[in-house]
Amino acid sequence: MAEILHLSKLYMPTLKEDPADAEIASHKLLLRSGMIRKTASGVYTFLPLGFRVLKKIERIVREEMDGIGSQEIMMPALQPSELWHESGRWNDYGPELMRLTDRHDHGFCLGPTHEELITALVRDELRSYKQLPVSLYQIQVKFRDEIRPRFGLLRSREFIMKDAYSFHDSQESLQQTYDDMSGAYGRICDRCALEWRAVEADSGQIGGSVSIEFMALAESGEAELVHCACGYAADAEAAECICRPAVHKVDAMEKIATPGVHTIDELAEFLSIPASATVKALSGKGADGELVVFFIPGDHELNDIKADRAVPGFAFLTDEEMESFGLHKGSMGPVGLPEEARVVADRNLKGVPAWVVGANEDGFHYVGAQLGVDFQVDEWADLCIAVPGDSCPECHCALEGARGIEVSQVFQLGDKYSRTMDATYLDKDGKEQYFIMGCYGVGVSRTLAAIVEQHNDDDGIIWPPSVAPAQVCVLPLSSDDTVMNAATGIADKLAKMGFEVAIDDRDERAGVKFADADLVGWPLQVIVGKRGVAEGKVELKRRRTGERREMSFDYMEEMMSFVNRQMRNMPQGGTNLFASFFE
Ligand code: ATP
Ligand code: MG
Repeated sequence: MAEILHLSKLYMPTLKEDPADAEIASHKLLLRSGMIRKTASGVYTFLPLGFRVLKKIERIVREEMDGIGSQEIMMPALQPSELWHESGRWNDYGPELMRLTDRHDHGFCLGPTHEELITALVRDELRSYKQLPVSLYQIQVKFRDEIRPRFGLLRSREFIMKDAYSFHDSQESLQQTYDDMSGAYGRICDRCALEWRAVEADSGQIGGSVSIEFMALAESGEAELVHCACGYAADAEAAECICRPAVHKVDAMEKIATPGVHTIDELAEFLSIPASATVKALSGKGADGELVVFFIPGDHELNDIKADRAVPGFAFLTDEEMESFGLHKGSMGPVGLPEEARVVADRNLKGVPAWVVGANEDGFHYVGAQLGVDFQVDEWADLCIAVPGDSCPECHCALEGARGIEVSQVFQLGDKYSRTMDATYLDKDGKEQYFIMGCYGVGVSRTLAAIVEQHNDDDGIIWPPSVAPAQVCVLPLSSDDTVMNAATGIADKLAKMGFEVAIDDRDERAGVKFADADLVGWPLQVIVGKRGVAEGKVELKRRRTGERREMSFDYMEEMMSFVNRQMRNMPQGGTNLFASFFE
């Protein structure tokens, strides 16, 4: 039988007011409910209730890792600098790496991740292809000196990560483990009751996906996503942009005076046409200094990553440089550009026969500049950041926008680390080969905060039963013996059934107990009052909906034993676990 949490003895320092420096719900509520405390910027202590939740998430992660045959290990957080010199990341990782020196003047870092350490481990131990594949994981503290630690556990400098690494002798074998990991990561999100999307973290240029990020949807998330009902989802920056610019039809090219018009919005308003019927020009230069002018639909933004892909080393021109090329900021266009300019246009403009665009003369624009007649395009490329309303690259329906918190990521590394760190095995012909590797990370403490971010209301946290510090809290409303005895009896019975139970046996007013129970977020409250006890009744409150129902002790027990059987398999983290009481 699980131990009952007696709130009279529990270190649960709840706060009435929102802490001043907490901006978002999860940060505020985790502090207010006495789950975590700040130790330093981006460094937190887990108090008993927060720690219980953390352990539960870890258990889910462990079960899923063990379930796909990954083996748990524990590597040190303290890592010798030599390994990081070998991989080249001692320099590349930059100021995020927490570095230190021991008394013998040896360099170390506090691990932000463990590719170096594990690669060094297996290169000395795994010799033969017969020993592959191998998948190892750990749940451990990580250190990153984030430039802007914020949002509590979401972006901290010390945090808990589950990191796994796999070693293979073929791409097929890597793909298999990568797929297993992706499946497990999806189940972890489900079991934590997260609403999530798996997004391709890069556009898979090499063919196939090499990295997927698992995003918990939340307004406070730092990642911008586009997604579609068909299941497609991508980071807005990584997504292919497919849009349909509006067409402003005119018979022939016409130059119009547009005094005072400098921006796309001003141009659209001046001509009374939508911004999507205009064409935006952006000038820059490539790594070799060559002049490049990009043309994109007026209602979209240039994607830096795509610009760099189309023109390696692309950088915008300064005002002086523009002047030296004879370019007119605010009225650039493809007609009459300097000879040497390389014209690269967004693919979506291919179908637009006549452009509304700058005339390369201050205060003038062209309408109906005809593609192939009045000007030429040298190259077409995918150049823009996808936005909601663009077409889904898979089914062509309109994309929706969302924001997300990256809770986990899977990666196909190939031989990136094994090559730089010279980690090899012998293949079946006795030849040395570099390991093919994958790495996979779950932000365990970030997941905890993401759950709160998705499951809360004005009164506090609403824990999904799968990760709640306890599923039920019994609330005796007076310290009267009959009430206390009844409450204790109920708590014992529920604990014997297999529930994790808390009892608020503090000498506090009913109002304080109610407020704290809502704040802490126990999924089910069993309220035991004087009148109820006299009648053999209790009141149940479901935190998620606020529904309340009075029922007899017997009926409550009967229902609880029924619900208890459902706890073995809780879809969506058991968010519906107690619904049947209130139907
Ligand atoms: P981000 O882009 O948010 O900085 P990342 O892509 O650098 O994260 P990874 O190296 O992929 O992070 O680490 C694996 C997981 O560890 C992430 O998916 C995230 O859940 C978690 N994580 C990373 N940085 C932090 C942090 N500063 N605080 C809490 N969790 C973190
Ligand atoms: Mg990541």
